[in-house]
Amino acid sequence: MSETDGLIEKCDGCSQLLDWLPLGTMLEDRVWHKLADESETLCLSCVIDRAEQRGVRLTLASLLPCALNLLGKPSFFDLFTIFAPRAIADQF
Ligand SMILES: [Zn+2]
Repeated sequence: MSETDGLIEKCDGCSQLLDWLPLGTMLEDRVWHKLADESETLCLSCVIDRAEQRGVRLTLASLLPCALNLLGKPSFFDLFTIFAPRAIADQF
């Protein structure tokens, strides 16, 4: 479980308060398990750092199809679509 201070959740990677950091993208379990324990919560920076350290390539197919990945402009979906082959992007 992520470390919490009252109701304020912290990143399990860098211990920064998640109120001040963007959450990492929601990833498919098969990808997430390469980066963190199931119960961990990571900020975007820690997701990217762990992927780089562990040689995990994050692609559009790594994203869990959920509302969080569609929030904001650009959303995680938008960012990953830029680099995805058209056939994969059309699945979302
Ligand atoms: Zn972090």
